[in-house]
Amino acid sequence: MLDSWKVSLDELYDQMVEWRRDFHMNPELSFQEQRTPTKIADYLRSLGIEVKTGVGGNGVVGIIRGAKPGKTIALRADFDALPIQDEKDVAYKSKVPGVMHACGHDGHTSTLMGVAKVLQENREFLHGNVVLLHQHAEELAPGGAIAMVEDGCLEGVDAVFGTHLMSNVPYGVYAYRKGAMMAAGDAFVIKVQGKGGHGASPHETIDAIAIGTQVVNQLQHIVSRQINPLKPAVVSVGAFHAGGALNVIADSAEIKGTVRTFDPEVRDHIENEIKHIVDNVCSAFHASAEVSYTRGYPAVVNHDRETDIFVNVMKPSVGEEKLINIDPIMGSEDFGYFIQNKPGMFFFTSAGNEEIGACYPHHHPKFDFDERAMLTAGKALLSITHHYLCEQESNEEKLLAEQA
Ligand code: MN
Repeated sequence: MLDSWKVSLDELYDQMVEWRRDFHMNPELSFQEQRTPTKIADYLRSLGIEVKTGVGGNGVVGIIRGAKPGKTIALRADFDALPIQDEKDVAYKSKVPGVMHACGHDGHTSTLMGVAKVLQENREFLHGNVVLLHQHAEELAPGGAIAMVEDGCLEGVDAVFGTHLMSNVPYGVYAYRKGAMMAAGDAFVIKVQGKGGHGASPHETIDAIAIGTQVVNQLQHIVSRQINPLKPAVVSVGAFHAGGALNVIADSAEIKGTVRTFDPEVRDHIENEIKHIVDNVCSAFHASAEVSYTRGYPAVVNHDRETDIFVNVMKPSVGEEKLINIDPIMGSEDFGYFIQNKPGMFFFTSAGNEEIGACYPHHHPKFDFDERAMLTAGKALLSITHHYLCEQESNEEKLLAEQA
């Protein structure tokens, strides 16, 4: 039982808060992480954990070897921050201008460091190994996960789990979903090339703004008229840049947006359809066009068996009412790469608390979370690990003993 282990996560809470606030004050942008992975690696090494650094870039992988043979479970926490100015009025506010942990990755990291200590101190009870995936660059495509996977971080891993804090739900619950839980996220950039000229002589020009707005309008038809309404999809234009002077017809326009899908066929269809619409609308009005479409993270599709394990493991310890089966979310996450390669699942740990100002959405300049959620997140990761490396094996041993 977890209760009889030598060190519990509760005992490490103050330490986890200290780590989290240190990371929070010293955030680092995706792919530029130096201090954070060094701190993580130094700490894991100080516990006697085998550590690999520079995994797929700035990733850190720790391996805790249990006393007995068994399965290998990977636990993932990301550690990068965002290009956002911290506007919170707290002692642990970011010290780096324009950079902030506005998604809770500082919490994920501190949680996994605490979990690492508990597991390392109790490795005599473990049948199998735990791989700690401290991942860089979750916030910026192509992301750190795929590079870490390509660098072999999942070799020998039987199942991989991860959690994300969520500030929009009050502290104390978990949210999960079997199958597709978070969307694939792609990006597109459209360039409409017209022919600029005097605003008083439209007949001598090809108006990139007038044509660009037609493109934006026609893009709305993809989801509303072409995609099965039972298959979620989003096409959003987030930027339109063109022109500069009120009496000049714009020579070119640039349109940027995002596409969110779950179904790979819907994803392919939308990519093709954007190109089709842009080419045809532009040619109808004698403009030329260029579309660059970049595939981002795949959907986070939780495996059935691992999701059942999560629910079954958590139910007795936290109660069914604290496990919320949610609708899919159109946000995206590069954790999807890990579970494309190995069985596993991703869940949310609620961390909102209006009383302490932890009520802003993720990526907001005032984002914060209830630090106690690091305990609930960590306990879930420990319970899952305990299931794979203690319960399953002891059940098998019991069976073998019965048979003997
Ligand atoms: Mn995040």
